[in-house]
Amino acid sequence: MSSARRLLAGLRETMARGTAPLGELVRLVASELVAEVCSVYAMRPGDILELVATVGLRPGAVGRTRLRVGEGIIGLAAATGEPLNLPDAQNHPAFAYRPETGEEPYASLLAIPVRRAGRTVGVLSVQNRAPRLYAEDEVELLATVAMLLAEVLVAAGATGGAEEGVSATLPRQFEGAGLAPGLAIGPVVLRRVTPHARRLLAEDADTERGRLRRAAETMREGLDALIERAPEGGASRDVLDATRLLAADVGWLHRVSEAIGSGLTAEAAVQRVAGELRERMRHIADPYLRERLADIEDLANRLLEALDGDTVVLPDVPPGAILLARRLGPAQLLDWHGRGIVGVVIEEGGPNGHAAILARALGLPALGAARGAVDVAETGDEAVLDADEGLLILRPEAELCQAYRRALEAREARAAGWAALRDQPARTADGVPLQLMLNVGLRMELDQIAATGADGIGLFRTEIAMLARGSVADIAEQASLYADVLDRLDGRPVLFRTLDLGGDKLLPGAPLPEEENPAMGWRSLRVGLDRPKLLRRQMRALLLGARGRPLSVMFPMVATVAEFRAARALLLAEAAQADPAPAQLQIGTMLEVPSLLWQLEALLADTDFVSIGSSDLMQFVFAADRGNAALAQRYDLLSAPMLDLLEQVRFAAVAAAVPLSLCGAAAAHGLDALVLAALGITSLSMPATAFLPVKAALAAVDLGGFRAVLRALRQTGAAEPSLREPLLAWCRERDVPV
Ligand code: PEP
Ligand code: MG
Repeated sequence: MSSARRLLAGLRETMARGTAPLGELVRLVASELVAEVCSVYAMRPGDILELVATVGLRPGAVGRTRLRVGEGIIGLAAATGEPLNLPDAQNHPAFAYRPETGEEPYASLLAIPVRRAGRTVGVLSVQNRAPRLYAEDEVELLATVAMLLAEVLVAAGATGGAEEGVSATLPRQFEGAGLAPGLAIGPVVLRRVTPHARRLLAEDADTERGRLRRAAETMREGLDALIERAPEGGASRDVLDATRLLAADVGWLHRVSEAIGSGLTAEAAVQRVAGELRERMRHIADPYLRERLADIEDLANRLLEALDGDTVVLPDVPPGAILLARRLGPAQLLDWHGRGIVGVVIEEGGPNGHAAILARALGLPALGAARGAVDVAETGDEAVLDADEGLLILRPEAELCQAYRRALEAREARAAGWAALRDQPARTADGVPLQLMLNVGLRMELDQIAATGADGIGLFRTEIAMLARGSVADIAEQASLYADVLDRLDGRPVLFRTLDLGGDKLLPGAPLPEEENPAMGWRSLRVGLDRPKLLRRQMRALLLGARGRPLSVMFPMVATVAEFRAARALLLAEAAQADPAPAQLQIGTMLEVPSLLWQLEALLADTDFVSIGSSDLMQFVFAADRGNAALAQRYDLLSAPMLDLLEQVRFAAVAAAVPLSLCGAAAAHGLDALVLAALGITSLSMPATAFLPVKAALAAVDLGGFRAVLRALRQTGAAEPSLREPLLAWCRERDVPV
């Protein structure tokens, strides 16, 4: 029998007896690892680690030796969540001497953090007199024991840093990053990271492997069923397909099977392997790879749920609940959305994550990076989620809650009023017609066309579906998406934009270099022109998807007319081979790099249309990172430089008779949209959530009068950083909903 199996078999017996297993546990570990010392430290309130069991150190130190998290080797292991394997521990800079332990003779030390549900609940250590580095299999074995120990420590009351007692009834506020806009108020429902495996040690590995096989099958069937239901349910096929792909990867199931071989149950083995992957991926800087964490979590939980029985038992969701999760996979978000949640907080969610993309597509208010919320909240706690302000307020004071309720009611009343606008033509109060369109990127977002009554798609971001699936789709899959888009739009305009990857939009494993300024780096069309195969494949897919219908394609991040011409030549070459050829091929460009402003005449002579990408254009004009919230006040569309610039572009486009639209974030704000319309830019494209409010703002204004006010303010306030305040005041006086 291997030492691992022997140790786990011994632990199984000890735990089955159920009597004070800690003393027995340290003795067993010390004997199996031939260690002279084995000790257990448990986390106490206030982030204190207390020695609770030892063999080898002086018994009198138990209950007396206490270290803060971060103090000494034990505290360091707890703080970093990393094992420490030290041949000469006493000369380590973090070593903290505790005379009561009598540990002077021991040179080598291996400390393993004991973690449960992402929190450190204690530390397990072994020590030896002789200086030695513990072998890899010893470290692994101790990590397995630490997993078992976690259950024992939590049952015995180790806190893992969670708040206790009276603090659990006080209001708490968490700041995070808005992932999807909106406001929600409701009871909290918690999704803890890992359902805990109740039975940890198994008698028979074959039985456990059989259970694992059946559970994996159930999990795949469940995913298939979800995928099949996806179109009716409005769920995203792209995202579910990506999860399904990961589920089919036998590599990690194989590792689970190996962990079963060391004596664990299937549940414990899944937890152990998922935990290892999690730890390894914690250090990855690449945001997209890090987001795969949520996908692995998603799968591990599905597998655990399948192991628990054929039916998935999830907590009851009270009506209008706000979900709090440490991490959340996209498929899980779809499940929860189907069960009626009205908002979601994802502690470790970033704006590039799949769940964030989905939340935006679903119109579900979502907050990310709100660390600590899951630990502090209890299911049923009242909460206010203000994703616009990046805030979660747990257990709000009654008055505050009332104020938010009034704000929510006002929003809902406004939204109900806007709903009637859906079927009205878009125009200002004095009858100026507008073309209002949507920015989309996922198949599921196509439902929004009917929901908003949009005139078309002014920006189809083709990279979004690829980011959601985690890789570039092949030509057939791309063509099927593009064909669906054109089917659903049924003759209304669609401006497809070729891949805009790079900058903040990175695919896992994509061969992009480390760059100091990725937003200004090798991204977008630059990649497409340097690696034309990828771009040409996408062009082929677009032409295939068009199936002979009219097709409009534009290029992102064009900086020179020469680049535009090169991209256009590639598309024309592909189009010449297309069968059937599109009834009409319109080739246009985004205007989001300032250098194009001095090449307008040549550009307008060659391009069929122009769409202004105001977000990138502004970040380059003002040299202010659009992703940095701290700089948000340092630039404004309603400033003299931007207004002059927009006016010049519009003037040149009209002179050249080239259609002009704007699809950047500016079009999503009522006041900015009004100003754009006043400047004559009347074709605007925006996210679905902004559509009806913007339409309402435009419908409420006499554009002729507004234009005169704008003209006067531009003369008197040209030196001001922004005209926003006086324009807002003008709108408020007239009850224009901006
Ligand atoms: C923009 O830059 O304004 C734009 C529409 O493109 P994206 O937001 O995709 O960069
Ligand atoms: Mg852009």
